[in-house]
Amino acid sequence: MKKIAFIITLFLCLLSPIFAQKGVGSASKLEGEVYVLSIFIASAEDDWTQKEKELMYNKQRIATTWLTKQAKLYKKNVSFKEGTFGYEKSIILKSIPSANATGNEKTDWIQSLLKKIGYKSPLEFHNWVLKNTTCKQSLVLVYANQTGNSYAFPFTADLNKQKYFVEGCLLYKKFNDGQILYPSAIAHEMLHDFGAWDLYKNFMQPQDREDKARELYPNEIMLRISLDIDDLEINGLTAWLVGLTEKKEKWYEWFKPKGY
Ligand SMILES: [Zn+2]
Repeated sequence: MKKIAFIITLFLCLLSPIFAQKGVGSASKLEGEVYVLSIFIASAEDDWTQKEKELMYNKQRIATTWLTKQAKLYKKNVSFKEGTFGYEKSIILKSIPSANATGNEKTDWIQSLLKKIGYKSPLEFHNWVLKNTTCKQSLVLVYANQTGNSYAFPFTADLNKQKYFVEGCLLYKKFNDGQILYPSAIAHEMLHDFGAWDLYKNFMQPQDREDKARELYPNEIMLRISLDIDDLEINGLTAWLVGLTEKKEKWYEWFKPKGY
């Protein structure tokens, strides 16, 4: 029997000071080969078990396999190459703040973690990817052994390129209400890095946009997440934003979140 889909609209957030933009940053377009670096962080008192890390990694694979399948529907080949840091031994931090989808969350995770790993700057990491792999796109997924509302770090042209060019997400093991991290939440946050907009009501989107999105795209991944990722789709608007199609409808701009 098919699993019941859970509609969760308020758990995901796009960080307010950093707005997604088409075609910029290290994950500028969902196309070709994408390098995904997964970093595991924890506090000393509450480290990941190896089994928990494997579980997270499996969820990531479900998310990326789904993204590949969705891209195929738009006749685009997308594949992912994986790298990890902290998979054998977590990066231990004094504390890991939670996040509540307020728009005031910490923004320099990728910069500070890449530094710990040994890259002078995020750009150095992206250049390493370009030089040493066949990938043209890169992003960083940070898995925190902590509860919080996961969020993304998309780049915009007005931000400091040295600090923020490399895009990524902070993914908490559980949401603040105890709900586990679904693979669809990982795919949702990754799509923000490629330029996708939230389509559910939050601090950047009014209720009428969510209502309209529900009518037009009831299974859109930027509208809701689901336990079974195959319940979800990338529809026209998100496909255009992330570069899977050039086909643009005039009314797409109506969904542009506040502050863009
Ligand atoms: Zn979101």
